Amino acid sequence: MGGWLSRLLILIVLALAVLTGPATVWAQGGETGNTPGSGATIHVVQRDENLFRIAMRYGTTVESISAANGITDPRYIAVGQRLLIPNAQPGAPSAETAPGAVVTHIVQPGDSLRTLLHAYSTTAVSLAAANHLTNPARLYVGQEIVINQGAVEAAPIRTLYTVRPGDNLLSLAARYGLRLNQLLSANDLKLPTPLFAGQKLWIPAPDPAPALVDLPYPVTGCTLSPVPAVQGQTVSLHLTTDGPSMLAGTFMNAPLQIATQDGNHHYALIGLHAFTMSGIYPLELAVTQPDGTQTALTLRLMVLDGGYSAETIAIEQQDLLNPTVTEPEWQRIATIMSGFSAQRYFDGLMGLPSAGAITSQFGTRRTYNEGALETFHSGTDFGGGPGTAIIAPARGVIVLAEFLPVRGFTTIIDHGWGVYTGYWHQSEILVAVGDVVTPGQTIGTIGSTGRVTGPHLHWELWVAGVQVDPMQWVRQSFP
Ligand SMILES: [Zn+2]
Repeated sequence: MGGWLSRLLILIVLALAVLTGPATVWAQGGETGNTPGSGATIHVVQRDENLFRIAMRYGTTVESISAANGITDPRYIAVGQRLLIPNAQPGAPSAETAPGAVVTHIVQPGDSLRTLLHAYSTTAVSLAAANHLTNPARLYVGQEIVINQGAVEAAPIRTLYTVRPGDNLLSLAARYGLRLNQLLSANDLKLPTPLFAGQKLWIPAPDPAPALVDLPYPVTGCTLSPVPAVQGQTVSLHLTTDGPSMLAGTFMNAPLQIATQDGNHHYALIGLHAFTMSGIYPLELAVTQPDGTQTALTLRLMVLDGGYSAETIAIEQQDLLNPTVTEPEWQRIATIMSGFSAQRYFDGLMGLPSAGAITSQFGTRRTYNEGALETFHSGTDFGGGPGTAIIAPARGVIVLAEFLPVRGFTTIIDHGWGVYTGYWHQSEILVAVGDVVTPGQTIGTIGSTGRVTGPHLHWELWVAGVQVDPMQWVRQSFP
C-alpha cells in the first residue's frame, strides 16, 4: 500500500516536472533550451519569424507545433511568445516543411496576398501559378489554395536589384514581401513609374514584424466558422475591436443580429437557408467608434452546396398542403423563431433532444405526390415509441408550449442571440411558457399529434430567422 502510493506520488511529481520543466529554462533572444530527459524544446518567437520558418528550423511541422501549443490559427503568433517544439531535430528539415513542400490553406478573414506570401515564405508568381489565379488579389474567405512553401529566402538587409523584362513595381513588392510604398520610398519614386529592363532598384529589408492579418483599424481580429460556409448551416462571426465600438452588418440583404460583450467583442450568428445557391457572397461590416468614425470591411464568403439528398413523399390528406391550413400556423412559428434575445443561454455544444435513432436528416429535398412543389425537410427526426423522453439540448426559456393543428403538441425554446429550437408532435408537454430549462431536463414526450403518420420527434433549430441543420450544433461549439 505504502510502496504503491509513493510510486504514484513519484510519477505525479515526474509528470509535473515534465509539464513545468521548460518554464524554468525559458530561453531568451531566440536561443533554445533543451530540458534534459523531457525531449521538449522551447523556442522564443523572434521578429520576422513565422511558424513555417520555426518548423523548418527544428525539422518538424507547422501542424505538430500548433497541436503542442493549442494554436488554432497558425497566423497568430507573437514576438516573444514561447513555443513548445515537440521532437525538435535542429538542422533536419522535414519533408513537409522543406522549401518547395506543397500545403493547402483555406483563406480566412484578414488573409491577403501579402499576409499569405509572408506566412508561407512564397512568391506571388508561385501562388498564382499553383492555383491558376488570374488575379491573386481577389481571394475569398473559404477559398482553398495550394502553396509551394519556402519559395523565397529571407531578404537580406538591402539589395540592389536589376529590373528584368516583364517586372513591375507591384510584382517586385509582392515577391519581396513589401508594400508598394516601401519600394517607392526606398527608390525615391512616385507613381506612375514605368520600369525598364536593366534599371537598378533598391530592395529594402521587409517590415521587421509585418502584421500577418490585413484588417482595417480598429478591427483587431475577425473569425468566421466554419469556413467555407455550407448551405443550410450556421456561420459564426466573431470580430474584435481596439476599444469599445459598435458593429453593424448585412449578409444577403438581411441585417446581422449582433451581440456585443465588453464593448469590443462582437458576435453574429448567420443562418444560411437550405436553398442558398452556392457561390461567393459579400458580408458587409461597419464599425463605428465612440467618436463617430466609421470603418467599413467587406469579406467575400464562399458558400458551398450542402449535398442534401432528395425524396418524393406521397400524401393522401390534401389539406396538409392547403395554405389556408398551414400558413397561419407557419406565420406564428416564424414570427417567434425570428426574434432576438440579447441574453445568451446556450454555451458550447448542444446535447441530443432524444435517445432515439435519427430517422430523417435535415435538408432532404422533398416533392409531394410527384408535384412541382419543392420544399426541404426543415429539421432532424428522431424515432421512438410514444412516451419516450424529449430532453432540452441547451439552456433556454420556454416561449411556446401548446397544441397546434399541424405540429400537434409543440414546444419552442429561446436560447438567446436569435437561436431557437422547436419540438413538434409530442404526446405530452412537461414545461410551461416562462420556464427556464437546463440541458438534460425532460421537457416532454414523443408522440404522433398533429399531421403525422407515426410517432416521432421533429427537432427544428432556427438562427436569425432561418431554419438550419440542428445537428451542426451537436458537433460544433458556438458562438
Ligand atoms: Zn421532421
